[in-house]
Order: sequence, then C-alpha cells, then structure tokens
Amino acid sequence: MAGIYIHIPFCMQKCGYCDFYSLVGLSDKKEFVVALCDEIRIRKEELQREPIQTVYFGGGTPSVLHIKDFENIIASLKEVCDIAELLEFTIEVNPDDINLPFLDDLKRIGFNRLSIGIQSFNDRILSFMNRRHSSSEAFNAVEMSKKAGFENISIDLIYGIPDMTLAEWKKSIDKAISLKVQHISAYHLTFEPGTAFYKKLKQNIFREVEDKQSIEQYNVLIKAVTKAGFDDYEISNFCLPGYQSKHNASYWSGYSYVGLGPSAHSFAARTRRWNISDLKKYINNIKRGEVFYEQEILSDIDVYNEKIMLGLRTKNGAEIRDLHSMDKKMVQLFNEKMQKNIMLKNVFTQNGRLKVCKDKKILTDQIISDFFVV
Ligand code: SF4
Repeated sequence: MAGIYIHIPFCMQKCGYCDFYSLVGLSDKKEFVVALCDEIRIRKEELQREPIQTVYFGGGTPSVLHIKDFENIIASLKEVCDIAELLEFTIEVNPDDINLPFLDDLKRIGFNRLSIGIQSFNDRILSFMNRRHSSSEAFNAVEMSKKAGFENISIDLIYGIPDMTLAEWKKSIDKAISLKVQHISAYHLTFEPGTAFYKKLKQNIFREVEDKQSIEQYNVLIKAVTKAGFDDYEISNFCLPGYQSKHNASYWSGYSYVGLGPSAHSFAARTRRWNISDLKKYINNIKRGEVFYEQEILSDIDVYNEKIMLGLRTKNGAEIRDLHSMDKKMVQLFNEKMQKNIMLKNVFTQNGRLKVCKDKKILTDQIISDFFVV
C-alpha cells in the first residue's frame, strides 16, 4: 500500500485561491475526531490489506488540531494497522500555527516530515492571497522546525500570481533556498470555480498572468532550484538528493492508498472512492452506520489517462510497456499520439519510458491533454 491520507477539514480563514474542502473555524472539531477514529475502525480490512509505508495529514489545516487530537487519531490507526515502521510521516502546517513546544510534540508522536504552507515570502502577496501569516513568520517557522529537529522539511510556493513581478518571485525562491530546506513544491496559481479569486477574475477585478510570464517564472524557478542542487523530479516538486516525497511519489506510481476524512480520495486496483465533502453529513452518516462515500470503477480509458497524467508529470516518465499492455485500440491510439509528439519534440523515449523534453516542461499539461483519450 502506498499510504494513508488523512484530511483535516478546518482552516482559520479561507485563502483566495483555495478550493480544497475545508470549513472556517473549529466548531465541529471534537465530533470530527470521533468520526475519523470510527472511520479508521470501519475501514480496518482495507487498512490491513497491504503494509503501510507513509501517512500524510493534509487539509485544510492539520496544524489547527491539538496534540491530543493527533494522539487519538494515531492510537486508532495503531489499533487496526502497523504504522511502527513508516518510511515517511508527514504533516502540513501553517507558519502561524506552530511554536517550539508544538513542534517538539509533533516530533515526539512520530512525525518525521513537515510540509509548511508558505506560498510566498512577500507580505503584499501573502495579504493579496488572504494568507494568515507574514513573511517573517514563515521564515521563523522554518528555523523553529529545524531547531525542533526536523530534518525533512518541504515548503510550498505559488507563482503565476497577478501583479507579482519577476523580481518578487525570484526573491521568494532565493529565500526558500537560503533556508536550506530539503524539498520545495511550487504550483502555478489556478482559478478554480467557487473560490474568491475565480469570482474576482470573472468580475475583471484582476486578470490571469500571460503565458509568457508563466514561462518566465517557471524557467527562473527551475534555474534557481537546480543550481542549488535540487532535482526537478516532478513538474511542481523539487528535492535535494534522497528527499523525494515518498507519499506523493507512490500516488504518481499508481500504488493504492486509503483516504480518511471528508473529501479524502482512496484508490485500489481499478476502484476510486471519495468521501463526501460535507463535514456534518460525514459525521452523521458514520454515526448512523450509513454510506459516507461514493465510488467508481475506472474504465480502460480512465486508467490510460491516469497513467499518462501521473507518468508524464514526473522526470521518470510513463512506462511504455505498461501503456502497451492495454487493449489493442488504446495501444494504437497511444502509439499515434506518441509518434506525433516525438515529431513535435514534445516528448522522447529513454530506457522504455516516455518523458517530456526538458524545454517543454512548462507545457506538460498541454502535452498530457493531447495524449488524453476522451
Ligand atoms: S490553502 Fe490551506 S490554509 Fe488556505 S484555505 Fe486552503 S487549505 Fe486552508
């Protein structure tokens, strides 16, 4: 088994760009933790099916929970499965939630990797995105985490932000590198329906950055992180040698995982399952023994599209033999698309794998769309 993902659906305020499922405030926290522990027991068989290698607390904002809450959740996990030998145990934290005693406690209860949601080291941009923290809090959060003994720290950054200059972006990257973290994730801002930013975009309050700027910002990022010794192992993820996110790498390799908590996704063989994105319903349905998830069986086309999407986003690429094991019609379609994209110098083959050409990385999503079968 790839691992366990646990979704903590609370935030103290909503960031302008975010469409992850979360509620502002902690009013249902107690009932949520009880329901989550019940879900762990309900899904005992799934959790025991394969050895668990990684556990990832994401959200929402896991760092708004109390240490006692984590202890309860971890105790429930230990009741049903073996998590004594985890390769990676990650928690996402927000810079303004953490202090040294809290970090010491996280370490004590077993977390060995922190993913810090920094997004930018520029106060104007942080406030534009409605983040709660300042640039100096972000800086202190990393320093404190190191002091607490964390040796595997990832920080998140966002680019493609309206009105962010190239100089501002460079400064954020340089700051991130100067902090000597082991991993950086950098995502291009997207405007998702339902978010405050999407609304503002539709009202013409601001505009998306032009492709030229996106490419410039991505190129600056790649140049800086690779110069600093980071491996661009996935289109948005960069690590020092040996510090790939094991949890995410196994998603990309198509291993199975169990997602717990509202809106969390699970995957095994050809089944994709997702918990309802409604905290009250999630709590009540678990309490009443009613179904709290939906699921679908992936078609051949879904499986093919997923392999393409996950594979081509990584430096390692997609395994051609694996794609050739699909039915005849799919293989024919894939071969045609592969030949066309090789001719266009978008992709190349190496050791049986199909990879995106270095100078076309910024176009990865477009290249993937071209490979998709609908
Ligand atoms: S980005 Fe993180 S902190 Fe902000 S609303 Fe989304 S989940 Fe909450």
